[in-house]
Amino acid sequence: MSAALSVRDLVVGYGGAPVLHGVSFDVDDGTVVALVGGNGAGKTTLLRTVSGLLAPSAGTVHLDGRDLARVGVEDRVRRGLAQVPEGRGVITELTVEENLRLGGLWRRDPAGLRAALAEMYALFEPLERRRTTLGHQLSGGERQMLAIARALVARPRVLLLDEPSLGLAPLVVAQIMRTLRELCDRTGLTVLLAEQNVAGALSVADRGLVLGLGEVVASRPAAELAGDEALRHAYLGF
Ligand code: ATP
Repeated sequence: MSAALSVRDLVVGYGGAPVLHGVSFDVDDGTVVALVGGNGAGKTTLLRTVSGLLAPSAGTVHLDGRDLARVGVEDRVRRGLAQVPEGRGVITELTVEENLRLGGLWRRDPAGLRAALAEMYALFEPLERRRTTLGHQLSGGERQMLAIARALVARPRVLLLDEPSLGLAPLVVAQIMRTLRELCDRTGLTVLLAEQNVAGALSVADRGLVLGLGEVVASRPAAELAGDEALRHAYLGF
C-alpha cells in the first residue's frame, strides 16, 4: 500500500522551544488514521503544518510522493489536501448551499460541482433540509457536517480533520464518524483525524497515532491501540 501522506522528522514551534520534535508517520492511501493525544500534545500544530498554515523549521511533508515544502496553502488544497479546522469555520452569514459552493470554488466543471452538491446532500441528510438556512441558524452538529461537506466538495484526496466531535452530542458524533468511514470505503478518500474523543476516533480508524508532547509515542492498528490499557492510561487519560 502506498502512502498518500508522508511526514518525516517534522520540527515545528511558535518561536520558542519546538512543539513538535521530529514527528514522522505515513497515512496510507484510502485509510483513516486517528491522531490522538492529550491536551497540548501538538495535534492542531501538526495538522496546521501539514496543511501549510505553519512552516516547519525542519522536516518534510509529501503528498502522493511530492514534496510540499514550496507549496502554499491554496495550492495544497488544489492538489487534493483539504482541512476542516477546529471550530469548524462555517461562514455564518451564508446559507448552507452558499457555503458548499465555496468549497467548489476551485472546480472548473459545473456539472461535476452540481453532482458533488447532490452527493453531499445525500451523505449528510440534515443539510438537504437546511439548504437555504444561514450558517448561524444551524445546530453544532449541522455546522460540523457542513464544514466537512464543504471540504469534500473540492474532491480532496486527503482530508485533515481537527476535532470534529468537539461539543457535539454522542449520536451526532457517531453519525459523522460513520459517514467518514463509509466515504473512505466507497471513494478511497484518505483521512487524518485528530481527536480528543479517542474511543470514537479509534472505532472508525484503521490505524492510531498517539502523540505525547510533540512526539509519536505509538503508531499501531487502531483496534490494538484501543485495547492497550497501559498506553491509554499514560497518554490518553482513560
Ligand atoms: P488541543 O487538543 O488542546 O487543541 P493539541 O494537541 O491540538 O491540543 P496544540 O494546539 O497543537 O495541541 O498545542 C501544542 C502546544 O503548542 C501547546 O503547548 C500550546 O500551548 C502551544 N501553542 C499552540 N498554538 C500556539 C500559538 N499560536 N503560539 C504559541 N504556542 C502555541
